[in-house]
Amino acid sequence: MAEQQHRRVEPDGVGGPAGTVDVDVVVVGLGVGGEETANRLAAAGLSVVGIERNLVGGECPFWGCVPSKMMIRAANALAEARRIDGLAGRARVEPDWSTVARRIREEATAGWTDDAGVARFTGKGGRFVRGTGRLVGPGLVRVGDQTFRARVGVVLGTGTTPVIPPVPGLAGTPYWTNREAIELAELPESLVVLGGGAIGAELAQVFARFGVRVGMVEAGERILALEEPESSERVAAALRADGVTVHTGARAERVEHDGSGFTVHLADSARLRGERLLVATGRRAVLDTLGLETVGLDPTRRFVATDDRMRAGDGIWAVGDLTGHGAFTHVAMYQAGIAVDDILRRAGKLTDAAGKADDPAGKLGDPAGGGPRADYRALPRVTFTDPEVGAVGLTERQARERGLTVRTGFTALSDSTRGWIHQVGDEGFVKLVADADRGVLVGATSAGPVGGEVLSALAVAVHAEVPVSTLAGMIYAYPTFHRAIESAVRDLLQ
Ligand SMILES: Cc1cc2nc3c(=O)[nH]c(=O)nc-3n(C[C@H](O)[C@H](O)[C@H](O)COP(=O)(O)OP(=O)(O)OC[C@H]3O[C@@H](n4cnc5c(N)ncnc54)[C@H](O)[C@@H]3O)c2cc1C
Repeated sequence: MAEQQHRRVEPDGVGGPAGTVDVDVVVVGLGVGGEETANRLAAAGLSVVGIERNLVGGECPFWGCVPSKMMIRAANALAEARRIDGLAGRARVEPDWSTVARRIREEATAGWTDDAGVARFTGKGGRFVRGTGRLVGPGLVRVGDQTFRARVGVVLGTGTTPVIPPVPGLAGTPYWTNREAIELAELPESLVVLGGGAIGAELAQVFARFGVRVGMVEAGERILALEEPESSERVAAALRADGVTVHTGARAERVEHDGSGFTVHLADSARLRGERLLVATGRRAVLDTLGLETVGLDPTRRFVATDDRMRAGDGIWAVGDLTGHGAFTHVAMYQAGIAVDDILRRAGKLTDAAGKADDPAGKLGDPAGGGPRADYRALPRVTFTDPEVGAVGLTERQARERGLTVRTGFTALSDSTRGWIHQVGDEGFVKLVADADRGVLVGATSAGPVGGEVLSALAVAVHAEVPVSTLAGMIYAYPTFHRAIESAVRDLLQ
């Protein structure tokens, strides 16, 4: 439904003549991953067609990361102002959503237009086509009445769309997805959020801090289910402190909508009322309309399987959310870099000799040559709630499920000097997950006022497999939040 509402109304295929056109590469979907790939290939001198049916840039700049973080920045400023009492005097806070809405409309999204993105691509020599692309055979992509034949290959970067759960009564109601929540001009009086993942938690906290009465429904036993249980607890407590009623283990059985809003009926016969209903129950790749079967790929799978060079098959690459390696902008960008390298080699624009000049130690490629390979061991992720939850690699449970000899270290931020100084708002912790047999970290979480920033040191440790003994012997600046890493390492080694 949201996809329909937000589609630009333009006929497929605007931007080129009818008939079959030979090019080097066709990129289908110019979101984060596709745009990066298309721009870099065009800049390298390949003839590239980029096909986008909505806005060049995709979900992240228009309805995802960027505007949601603008909302969070504003909501956190309100929360900090409310913390002045007891720290610095008294403050009276009058939230005004119009400032946030204006920033998103004018600064972040240029009124949801993509002229700048299109110009970036065409300025590099790329050929832009607005429309819905579909594979019609190996190397062949159709958009409207045009067919492009790719000499080198096709890159898929079509992203994901929100999952709308089959709750009776929900279909056909004017529920929100992230798109309506981000485009919001005026706040509702009350909101029910279905889903306690990162997007649901971030947006619930924003709206609650702006004075909206928010209820959250999560079917699982805890919110932020993909993260450590300690993260779920801290964020649920923070949401409750902001006035959100958090219902976990609560399945929405039925939804009703009338003139004044939504009623969500829970399995235990409780009901939640909200003027608006935000569905944030996950995202899925839409593969059945891409023509995957015409190139021998299975359109019924959840994601497009790729190897570590982002190849989905011969002459076909996939980057971004649709590969199923975590729906994050940094993953899409990382994969785009790998695909670009591989495609340039295929096109004869990059040789191992040239690669070696850039990378004499062979760190980026593999001994047999052939460029960088994707490695997700140290995948970082941040939930931008307050406390902010940064995590990298495996959780304790995932490490145990893999049969590792697990040791953990934990420290609460409030026990650190910086946490004690910070006082109100110092909720958080550092948790380390080590493979005791190898003496290295395989995962870590840093939750707190700047949890996503503290994460950087932990991401290096997991990525580079820095020995725990080395982490124990380092100097950590006093009094920082990241100094809690030292306490957690000590706890781990006890
Ligand atoms: C509310 C929200 C907050 C988020 N916050 C963060 C964050 O803080 N940090 C982070 O790392 N990630 C965040 N994300 C996730 C991030 O937005 C995605 O991981 C990222 O956009 C994925 O990029 P992509 O290229 O895979 O797909 P997308 O950005 O979804 O782009 C895919 C593009 O393909 C187009 N398309 C689809 N099918 C076709 C077709 N057949 N023909 C032509 N075009 C097509 C679509 O119109 C779209 O523009 C957030 C997401 C949401 C929803």
